[in-house]
Amino acid sequence: MIQKQIYDVLVVGSGVAGMYGALQFKSGTDVLILSKYSKTTSNSNLAQGGVAAVLSLEDDSYELHTKDTFIAGRHENDPEAVDVLVHEGPEDVRRIMELGAEFDRNADGELDKTLEGGHCRRRIVHYKDCTGAEMVRALLKQVEARENIEYAEDTVLCRLVRVRSGFRADLLHGGVYTSVFCNYCMLCTGGIGRVYKYTTNPKSATGDGIRIAWELGARIKNLSYIQFHPTAFNSEDGEQFLISESVRGEGAYLLNCRHERFMDRYDDRLELAPRDVVSKAIILESRRTGSNDFFLDIRHEDADFLRARFPAISEGCMRYGVDITKDLIPIFPCQHYLMGGIEVDIDSKTTVPRLYACGECANTGVHGKNRLASNSLLEALVFSRRAAEDIKRCMANGFPNVSPLPADCDYTGAPLPPGIVSEIRSIMQRAYFVLPDPGAIRFGLKQIDNILKRLKGGKYSWTTEYLEALSLATVAYIVLKEAEEANERR
Ligand SMILES: Cc1cc2nc3c(=O)[nH]c(=O)nc-3n(C[C@H](O)[C@H](O)[C@H](O)COP(=O)(O)OP(=O)(O)OC[C@H]3O[C@@H](n4cnc5c(N)ncnc54)[C@H](O)[C@@H]3O)c2cc1C
Repeated sequence: MIQKQIYDVLVVGSGVAGMYGALQFKSGTDVLILSKYSKTTSNSNLAQGGVAAVLSLEDDSYELHTKDTFIAGRHENDPEAVDVLVHEGPEDVRRIMELGAEFDRNADGELDKTLEGGHCRRRIVHYKDCTGAEMVRALLKQVEARENIEYAEDTVLCRLVRVRSGFRADLLHGGVYTSVFCNYCMLCTGGIGRVYKYTTNPKSATGDGIRIAWELGARIKNLSYIQFHPTAFNSEDGEQFLISESVRGEGAYLLNCRHERFMDRYDDRLELAPRDVVSKAIILESRRTGSNDFFLDIRHEDADFLRARFPAISEGCMRYGVDITKDLIPIFPCQHYLMGGIEVDIDSKTTVPRLYACGECANTGVHGKNRLASNSLLEALVFSRRAAEDIKRCMANGFPNVSPLPADCDYTGAPLPPGIVSEIRSIMQRAYFVLPDPGAIRFGLKQIDNILKRLKGGKYSWTTEYLEALSLATVAYIVLKEAEEANERR
């Protein structure tokens, strides 16, 4: 049960951004954290590779991390935001270790820093191949020990309404509608992956925070900057999980439906070409062969090495009856990450007073057009802390109280007809996947506009399904509109 009616800070989302942000508030500040599904249903919990940060100036430098970030982002990054990320990030990584997160160490007890695509130095700290789950575990333990932080699981933020000095948050809490008031709100709602049929993101990633901020009039920026990953496990039940780049780094071959290597047709770097190049090669090859069947083959590596190096990937594949030491791994490209989002400044302030956005739902500008691997957990840490610091500064300037107002929403209505979400996903898959198609973007935008009108005018009951469909349609509309405008400018 939610204990109070008024909170100083409402944190929407319990991934790394939400929990790390909430922990910055000490006793005396009442914080409520919401999680739409279980405590661990989040992109954060699935992060495999690690966190990038310059933890030693002996073999690395801030300038080099900055340079790598700009190259990956095709120099569309915001220089001030990158400067904050690179210089303040190492301290946040140390703080999360103090909070109990473990990272792998070598035989001398030093942090085992690894290398990923686009980094010129070994600067990625990791916990096996499940770094995110380890960070979530440590943060959750801290959150649960704090008497000033309340945590509401299975609780959906339906919308925010501006009231004097804050917001009324309308919630669906354990199937029951309720409202709470807050002076400040931090949206930490994660990505938009579920707008696609193929994505590594979990069911929580429907862009709710972006839709809610948009409804309040907040500016949204670069929502069409979407990162696709070439190799997600392609299961028959439609759930994809990531087969990390490091599997190709350790020597896996990419095979087409005829079990032939094909990368030499598209790039000299073969399987080790950058993510976007490999994704495009797979789509072009699928058009050439007329088949979506693709595989990774790492059977030629030592079986014990593979099980020790990739425990989570081995286990995930095994759940679908695929033994990576003996079988081909079925893969297909998928949506993976959102670079753009709710526009924020370097203190994570949106264009709406008292509304902050952090983590994957925000557009800080650090990633530019393309994210450098392992910079996103770092962004979630740095910019959620900065949001909390800004809120604390504002509170110190005089504490405004919210004025409770009765909830005015009517939640009764018709059930959402089936099929709308699949329709949205098919449109996005056709119009704006790895190789966007200008004709399909134009047509898709019209279709999505119709779906949005149907959803808004249909007097549907505010169930989780309806709210998620509304978020997905809103996100799809903004992405396609932005993409169409970019096409027109060309
Ligand atoms: C498979 C995978 C591997 C990755 N690997 C890496 C990596 O190695 N390194 C790296 O830096 N990044 C990695 N990333 C990206 C990184 O994990 C995410 O960008 C980051 O964790 C986002 O954190 P977040 O706190 O912003 O969002 P999330 O962790 O996704 O949390 C979002 C939270 O918001 C809640 N929420 C959403 N809508 C509502 C609502 N309406 N009401 C209430 N709650 C709501 C959700 O329930 C959830 O708790 C990976 C991502 C994936 C999917």
